[in-house]
Amino acid sequence: MIIDGKELASRIEFEIRKEVQLLKERLITPSLTLVQMGEEKASESYARSIAKEAEKMQIYVEHYKLPFETSQEELLTSIKMLNTRKDIHGILVELPLPSHIDKNKIIDSISPEKDVDGFHPVNMGRLLEGNPLFIPATAQAILETIKSVSPSIEGKQAVVVGRSNIVGKPTVLLLLQENATVTICHSKTRNLQSITQLADILVVSTGRPLLINRIFVKKGAVVIDVGINKINGKIVGDVNFDDVKDVAGWLTPVPGGIGILTTLMLLKNVVKAAKIQNAII
Ligand code: NAP
Repeated sequence: MIIDGKELASRIEFEIRKEVQLLKERLITPSLTLVQMGEEKASESYARSIAKEAEKMQIYVEHYKLPFETSQEELLTSIKMLNTRKDIHGILVELPLPSHIDKNKIIDSISPEKDVDGFHPVNMGRLLEGNPLFIPATAQAILETIKSVSPSIEGKQAVVVGRSNIVGKPTVLLLLQENATVTICHSKTRNLQSITQLADILVVSTGRPLLINRIFVKKGAVVIDVGINKINGKIVGDVNFDDVKDVAGWLTPVPGGIGILTTLMLLKNVVKAAKIQNAII
């Protein structure tokens, strides 16, 4: 069966709208600043898609554009200023940053209470501890999607292919918190197939188009495809959808699966940041 990202998205959208409404009644408008360096097309379109979604939900988005040549010191000064602004609840620095900027220094400079991406070491550490403040949006989207078709995760064999800081690792921690038995695979894993075949829940985030076909998948498994790749102008995932769809119990499509939910989870974090900074939670 195919997991309908749109249906899940409309439920989450409804919940966010309700929360925003409650904040508005207290005269609080949740707000996010997107910090972009340079004019890269992908960054522009990412910012546009967040702003479009946020507008629908009456979340304020400020797009803070800096020239590509901006120095690290100047960028740090801008973030310092955003950290102190009371009217801004969330700060998102668009990645990748130019090579003259130390990405980690920039992420470390964002106030953990405004780090709606959940990439700050404090937020990563809190997630590791099992007491998260902000969870990276894609990992949240993955967990919500799994829960929508498999409410009980406890005791299940989960395999996560990919160990990036933004997707693989936080997903592993969330699944562990749900009491799954979790195995992490990566590019150095030997005989990947023999491991993925055991998975009741299989999450794939590698950026390797169509890496996973039916022989990697256990019959009836929940398969979550995070990959977004372009082949001959067509968007495809890391999972070969047509080959796997009859073997998997549930499968996310690309596009139309995890991607749709990721922006919503980010906006959910912005609402949470507004609540935290106004001592509502
Ligand atoms: P990443 O930082 O490039 O990490 C890729 C991971 O996959 C690494 O851990 C790598 O192993 C592993 N890997 C690569 N080739 C492999 C192979 N043949 N077998 C097993 N593991 C392999 O990627 P990412 O940021 O997680 O993104 C992955 C994909 O998801 C991309 O297509 C990206 O566009 C997409 N994405 C989608 C969303 C969304 O919202 N839907 C969000 C973020 C990313 P090593 O660690 O050993 O190198």
